This record gives sequence, C-alpha cells and structure tokens, in this order.
Amino acid sequence: MLKAMVVVGAGLSGATAARILAEAGYKVLVIERLKHVAGHCYDYKHETGITVHSYGPHIFHTNNKEVWDFVNRFSPFVYYQHRVLSYVDGRLIPFPINRDTIAQLFGIELSTYEVEEFLEKEVKKSRYNDPPKNFRDVVVSQVGERLYEAFFKNYTIKQWGRDPEELSPEVARRIPVRTNRDDRYFSDKYQGIPKYGYTKMVERMLEHENISLLLGVDYFEVRDLFKPKLTVYTGELDRFFDYVHGELEYRSLRLELVEMDQEYYQPVAVVNYPNDYDWTRITEYKYFLNEKSSRTVVHFEYPLAKGEPYYIVMTRENMERREKYMKEVEKLEKTGEYLFIGRLAEYKYYNMDQVIEAAMEKIKERLK
Ligand code: UDP
Repeated sequence: MLKAMVVVGAGLSGATAARILAEAGYKVLVIERLKHVAGHCYDYKHETGITVHSYGPHIFHTNNKEVWDFVNRFSPFVYYQHRVLSYVDGRLIPFPINRDTIAQLFGIELSTYEVEEFLEKEVKKSRYNDPPKNFRDVVVSQVGERLYEAFFKNYTIKQWGRDPEELSPEVARRIPVRTNRDDRYFSDKYQGIPKYGYTKMVERMLEHENISLLLGVDYFEVRDLFKPKLTVYTGELDRFFDYVHGELEYRSLRLELVEMDQEYYQPVAVVNYPNDYDWTRITEYKYFLNEKSSRTVVHFEYPLAKGEPYYIVMTRENMERREKYMKEVEKLEKTGEYLFIGRLAEYKYYNMDQVIEAAMEKIKERLK
C-alpha cells in the first residue's frame, strides 16, 4: 500500500500534479500558503461583473494539444487573441514589432519584403554582440538600436530594475518579431481565457475524491507532521533548502486596481508603457471575456524589487545560484521522494502551459 502524497502549492503546477496523482489512485494532500487556490492566476468577479486577475493579466496559449485538452476538461475556453499596443512618442503603436509597427512609428508603408530589408539596414547600423550574449543583443540583432530603444530598453529597465545587458537572451526570445501584419502577442495554435475564470478551473482540477486541500497553511511550519511517499514541491526553490546557497532573486509587482465610470479606458486589453510613467503596463480586464458593463476596471502595473514572488530574474548570478540548487534537487528527485515543479520551484520563466506540461511529464515519469 502506497502512503499518501503531499503537494505543496495549489497553483497550476500543484493542481496539475495533484490531479494526475489522484486519477492514478493516490491520496493527495495539497497544502497552500495563500488563502485561495490557483496561485498567481487567481481571479475573481469584481462588483462591476468584470473578471479581474489579482496578480496581473494571464492569457492561456499553447501549441501542446495534450495540455490544451487537459485544461479543457476543467473549463470551457472563450476564444481570445491577445493584442497589445505600446505607448511610444505619445501614440499607441502595435506591439510586438510587425509591419504595422514600422509603418506607424516611421510613417512609411512597406511590403513584407521591404520590412525585411528595412530591419536588415537597421541592424547593420547597430552595435551588438554576435552571437548574442544578453537581452539587448537579441533584440538589437533582430530589429536594430532605434526600435530597441523605442520599445524595449526602458520597459526592461523598469520591469527588471537592471540594465538589459545583464539579462539573459532567453527573456528577449519571449517576444517575436514579424515582418507581416500579424499583430497578435502570441501565435500559438490554441489560445483563450477560461470562461468562468482561472480560479474556477483550478478548483475543478482539485475536485476529486482523492484530493484534500489545506488552505492558509505554510508547508514549512507543518512538514514535520508528515512522512509522505512523495512530496511535490512548487514553492520557492531557495526557501526549500533554507537558502544554503544564498537567496535567489524574485521580482514582484504592485497592481493598482482602478475602477472607472466609463465603458472603456483603452482600445485593447493591454497597453505597454516603455518610456513614460512609472507603470509598465495597464490591463483593462473586460476585454478578456468580452464582459459588458457601463463601468470598467484596470490594473496599473508597477514593478517591485521585494514582495510576493512573481518573476524569476534571469541574470548570470541568479542562474549560477540556481544551478547549485538544481544539483540538490537532482539528488532529492533521485530518491523518488520529491519532485520540484513550476516557476518558483524550478526557478524557470515558465508560461502557464509550460508549467502544466512540466507537471504532466514529471509525474508520469515518476509513476512509471
Ligand atoms: N518587453 C519590452 N517591451 C515590451 C514588452 C516586453 O521590453 O513592450 C520585454 C521586457 O523585458 C519583458 C520581456 O520582454 O520583461 C518579456 O515580456 P512579456 O510580455 O513576456 O512579459 P510578462 O507578460 O511575462 O510580464
């Protein structure tokens, strides 16, 4: 008889892990520090009837059919294609960079072929390391210094509180550059927003006779009470090991919720502010589920150095420290008694679908 298993964290990684284990016949105890499930994709219905994402905008997108089928078991999804505008030189310009971005910023009409030539010329005039060594190099090698400075440089300084040359190339690779007129933020095959919200979706993932849930309980205060067969840990990596290799940095946010007595505030769900103001972006939530109200609610997003851990910070120092922790993780995972899954526990800049995929793969491997 296998003993019960413990999952630490009821976010997407924890809920996926718990569900797969429960469906495989194991008893699972999920322990969550916060007083709610769904981790950082937690959302709720605001009094205007608009669904607000408490920890900032979450748009589900994936190319992985298995992941898409999995989430669709727990919630219907509303069709939504994310479009972002960037406030540059007092104008709202389509972002990520595509043919229309260049047309609007420079006031020139170019064909797709001419956009390619234009970007080549921009890159040729620019200085960067080849192959790229950092965030700046990746962007400048694709679009040149002028576009880098208009859209990326100051946003990145604001968001991460450091020079883009200190950040890993991987951060920049999240953002595509297109020479056609596709102005969607993501080009994945499957995209959408859970119709009744992420919280509901995660609640349904956790609704299983083999799953018990403890909310508002810090695992580190109770872990001596359990001797589980398997512990799936999804919290901060450095905390698990009592910071033996030093603290890993996590970037946080302050989200200021503003309710407005007008139907719409901005023309799309997200507007980025690279060069002006202290916030990085404004999200207007009613667009995600096309919710109707005579009022609107938006989040102003201000990056913070300390607080609830939202982002890992991909500098060389942090990634080297991560390696030391990951060696410890490997040792523990080899015993078969632990798995580390998710953005915080693997210290990886995962998207939601990648978190689910990682949980699926790791649990399946463990259950073999
Ligand atoms: N970024 C930028 N300008 C923008 C949007 C993004 O320079 O208008 C950079 C910035 O460094 C940001 C990174 O690209 O942190 C990744 O952007 P993404 O939209 O994926 O950030 P997330 O949604 O994860 O906050």
